[in-house]
Amino acid sequence: MDNERGTVRSARAGVTNAPPDRARLPRSRRPVGEPADPGSSSPWILMYHSVAVEEEDPYQLTVSPERFAEQIAWLHKRGRRGVSVRELMRARAHGRDDKLVGLTFDDGYADFARYAVPILQAYGFTATAYVVADLLGQDNGWDTEGPRKKLLTVEEVAELAVAGWEIGSHGLGHRALPGLAADDLAVQTRESRRLLEEVVGGPVTGFCYPYGAVDAPAALAVRDAGYDYACAIAHSPLTGRFALPRCYVGDRDGAWRLRAKKGRHRLRDAVTELRRRRGTRAERAVTERRS
Ligand SMILES: [Zn+2]
Repeated sequence: MDNERGTVRSARAGVTNAPPDRARLPRSRRPVGEPADPGSSSPWILMYHSVAVEEEDPYQLTVSPERFAEQIAWLHKRGRRGVSVRELMRARAHGRDDKLVGLTFDDGYADFARYAVPILQAYGFTATAYVVADLLGQDNGWDTEGPRKKLLTVEEVAELAVAGWEIGSHGLGHRALPGLAADDLAVQTRESRRLLEEVVGGPVTGFCYPYGAVDAPAALAVRDAGYDYACAIAHSPLTGRFALPRCYVGDRDGAWRLRAKKGRHRLRDAVTELRRRRGTRAERAVTERRS
């Protein structure tokens, strides 16, 4: 894996405009807010939670199987292939991601295997499931108001991984990371990874922040735990490889709403990049004034 990552890293350095000094920096010393690919927009990644028939859905986490099938068919018709974020980031490193879209499923609901997988398989798509490492086989007790939903079991997670679905970490106990002490951040990121690697029998390289909540210490903890990337939700000053923005998809999202959401993602990318550049210029001005 390390060799493989090394190849990807050098390939990326070869195909982008990254300044040479930065491109040579080992990933562990790179700033966490580094764009997923310097100088370009962030990849398009959709965020799902549960695919099921649900009467009550106060957190709007559920998409019906029929609606989900429509959304996947729409992506397919538009010439896009849905892939795991692991595959998306690898393709991106070689500049081959323009027809791809990342598909992510947070929390590791058992309905992923039951409803989402067969639909995705029908189109040859893949996806990433971010599971809560210490709650496998239990339920979403953290959503106090919502209906109880069963989570994938250890066996199901292991089977999905063998079948090629990416399993990523969603931490331990579904706790938000911002505000946690450094020790707790290390446990959330390292221990969840260790547990999942035992289950899947291979490397776990993706992390997804519970509630999409991320701050600089959380992003650093994820990077230092050895992950290759992490998913957030919103665009922010941390947007980059360790805080990839994602597009929420709900049960109301038909074709035109999905198209609008894609446009909004691009717009937010542009605004984030502009702010980043403006911030860098302001920092430089302050440094020059001081020296
Ligand atoms: Zn979650």
